[in-house]
Amino acid sequence: MITGDAAFIKKLNRGLILSQIIEHNKISRADLSKVTGLNKATVSVQVADLLEENLLIEEQLEHNNLGRRPILLSLNRKAGYALGIDLDKNQIMFTLSDLLGFPTHIEIVQLQTKDYNEILEILIEYIIDIKKKCQGSAFGLIGVTIGIHGLVSKDEKILFFPQLQWRNKNIKEDLQNMVDVTVFIENNANLTAFAESVFKHNKSNNLISISMNSGIGLGMIMNGEIHRGFHGYAGEVGHMIVVPDGKLCACGNQGCWELYASESSFFNKLGRSNADYYDIHSWLKLGDPDVTNQMDELIKYIAIGLNNIINMYNPEIIVLNSELLRLNRDAVKQIESRLNSNISHYGRLLVSELGKQACVMGACAFSIIKFLQISELNLQVTMKRTL
Ligand SMILES: [Zn+2]
Repeated sequence: MITGDAAFIKKLNRGLILSQIIEHNKISRADLSKVTGLNKATVSVQVADLLEENLLIEEQLEHNNLGRRPILLSLNRKAGYALGIDLDKNQIMFTLSDLLGFPTHIEIVQLQTKDYNEILEILIEYIIDIKKKCQGSAFGLIGVTIGIHGLVSKDEKILFFPQLQWRNKNIKEDLQNMVDVTVFIENNANLTAFAESVFKHNKSNNLISISMNSGIGLGMIMNGEIHRGFHGYAGEVGHMIVVPDGKLCACGNQGCWELYASESSFFNKLGRSNADYYDIHSWLKLGDPDVTNQMDELIKYIAIGLNNIINMYNPEIIVLNSELLRLNRDAVKQIESRLNSNISHYGRLLVSELGKQACVMGACAFSIIKFLQISELNLQVTMKRTL
């Protein structure tokens, strides 16, 4: 008979073994025993169960100098698929990934409406269609995770989605009732931070990621977990006041950081209609004085907010998720030259390489970690560039 404790330990060991197989890509039972510290018998029993469950694949190597042909284990990446969704004010980005986070399908749907029920209908239709397409695999669609650009409570309800003006929506329940798939709801900045942790900075226990698009949001990964605060609303740094009596913000205050340091504030101030990233890139290259000045202003205000955040958290890694900063090769250097207080200390500051796909990648990884019931996930970046 398995007692409660024994079952718990078995589950922990299973998670440890799965995490190590994923991290090493291919590994033998003997090496698995070494890296997990579990004895060979335990590894053997767990691996037999996982093979039975269809979660692992074993293959025998053809050549070996010692004449032995070791059997290597890897995750059966096609056993199931995760759907990540980034629900923004004007568009929905969908990404389907295999169990190793490799995107197999990416689609962007432009939104012509802000109406909750109409958008819910679009999501239901899409999820049902994808679920059908995944039916051939062992586990099918293993989960759907949606990134929301607004306040999401710890029990996964939307408290407020400012740009769509949604309040108190239980989108998780509304979807699950219709699609019969596990759905997770999370703040977009949290999922972006989670992607940085899973795909790029796995060894960091102290990472913050700042998403600077239409607004500014911050996600924190502390000891492998998303730090959500008491209600789930931690990280609303876009509404930190950086200019007393400054511009009026939709939140009710004045002088909020996102009115001076977000990408939309940059485009608004520049005032050139329909300008996109490619335009900015070429104008910067040509040394256009207006664009260059605007970029300097943006850098100045980013540094003011960052200084506050650094003093609050003393982070190891700070990732700035911004296409505009990615266009400006010297952005990090310019920001760092303004972070020269004797008090501010941090490990590394960098611009995200995952870019606008970070949220959906984090969303897929979030479903995978829940499905596999593991606490640690280290995946390789295998993104398809669509933007
Ligand atoms: Zn505000």
